[in-house]
Amino acid sequence: MDHTVSDLGSIPAPSQAVVLASSTPRPHASWTRIVTVISLAALLAPAIYLRSFFQPAELPIDPTDYAARTKRALSQTPIIDGHNDLPYLIRVELQNKIYDGFDLKHKLLGYTDIQRMRTGQVGGQFWSCYVQCPGVNDPELYKQENLDQPTWIVRDTLEQIDVTKRLIAEHPEDLQYCDNPKCIRDAFKVGKVASMIGIEGGHQMGSSLAAIRQFFDLGARYITTTHNCDNAFATAASTVAAGGEDHGLTPFGHEYVKEMNRLGMMIDLSHTSHQTMRDVLSLTRSPIMFSHSGAYSVQKHLRHVPNDVLRSVKRNGGIVMVTFVCRFLNMQHPEHASIHDVVDHIVYIANLIGWEHVGVGSDFSGTPGAPIGLEDVSKYPDLVALLMARGATEKQVKLFAGENLIRVWENVAAAAKVTQTSGEKPDEEIWEGRSWKYGHKTMPFMLAGSREKFAGPAGPHQFSVKANGRHAGLDSKDSS
Ligand SMILES: [Zn+2]
Repeated sequence: MDHTVSDLGSIPAPSQAVVLASSTPRPHASWTRIVTVISLAALLAPAIYLRSFFQPAELPIDPTDYAARTKRALSQTPIIDGHNDLPYLIRVELQNKIYDGFDLKHKLLGYTDIQRMRTGQVGGQFWSCYVQCPGVNDPELYKQENLDQPTWIVRDTLEQIDVTKRLIAEHPEDLQYCDNPKCIRDAFKVGKVASMIGIEGGHQMGSSLAAIRQFFDLGARYITTTHNCDNAFATAASTVAAGGEDHGLTPFGHEYVKEMNRLGMMIDLSHTSHQTMRDVLSLTRSPIMFSHSGAYSVQKHLRHVPNDVLRSVKRNGGIVMVTFVCRFLNMQHPEHASIHDVVDHIVYIANLIGWEHVGVGSDFSGTPGAPIGLEDVSKYPDLVALLMARGATEKQVKLFAGENLIRVWENVAAAAKVTQTSGEKPDEEIWEGRSWKYGHKTMPFMLAGSREKFAGPAGPHQFSVKANGRHAGLDSKDSS
């Protein structure tokens, strides 16, 4: 980042110099020395004044020079993108192998690399750890006939988190791993891109609150409540778009909201149905986020946020981070989607509920194509400049760029601290469809009555051997 550090910053201002000199009396201090200090300070004063006058941040900028004003605003406030799917490309294209010739600093195809992030003055990035819904694109992949059936989705989510952390660690000069909001500002001060982890689907939790807690411990700081499939917690927008009913949150979804709040994990409502949005907003004790969405009134796509929900987001203190997904911006002609469509969504939301509740969540590297004028991660400044051209003040664009997201995260973390301090325990509820097929009658039970519950025969895979040392199950095949 282009921070201006005054070369004279370490020299005390004139008044401080006098105070320092007079507040540390020495036995042999003479008036001559004091006069010398005062004279020196007086000589330096104009230099300090002129220096501050010539600091680039203070030079007057033509109000219509939006590019220059953007550069200044983004050198003072980090622009934080809510959603980038690069980790999924690393999974698909490299099978998570990043040490053999892959370098995020080199110019890559597609939308994301460090070089272009630098050009785009990116200050913070939520890297999306995404694993697809069961059966999407390939009916056999993660096949699941009901939500209790095991799949590899949780394992693969662990791998996504692992590779994201390794990728961040591979670029210590450019990226800084962050699991708290203060870290974003700290990273920004030393010119690094704060790098956070979000998980893009409640289906990646294996219908388990315990999994949410463990993903939090691994550093995930938001979960997208649904992806394009219903899960144990909630209904997805895609279900409604396909003609399904909008059931909103499930009863277990109520526990999900409670536990997310208690943990301090941000609830992401992008991809959810409108009723899920409403249900969560009526329950949550903490602000929510939409990591990559838009305004339903601007484009009637069910992935977007309707006006009543936007008003609830204002009351809730949350944020809608506006997406660049072409087919959500222009449903009829995605190929014509442009930066102006993105601006329309942002300005609409800001006009309806205020600049305190809007941000940016591109979905770069997670969707085919990009809007005209927002071709890759180098283009964020053009977006900010256009917002200014549409009337946003520098204060407003700073809210949009990063201040809002930081505020939401701080408030989510603070509310969690209050809840945890109050002694609220982790939520032990289990999904109502969960079955527990474990145990057999020969276990060394702790509780009276347990043995009766497992009255059936011992499992066939018990490792018990006969006198000949062979597994009992092999007897029929044992010819010796
Ligand atoms: Zn998405």
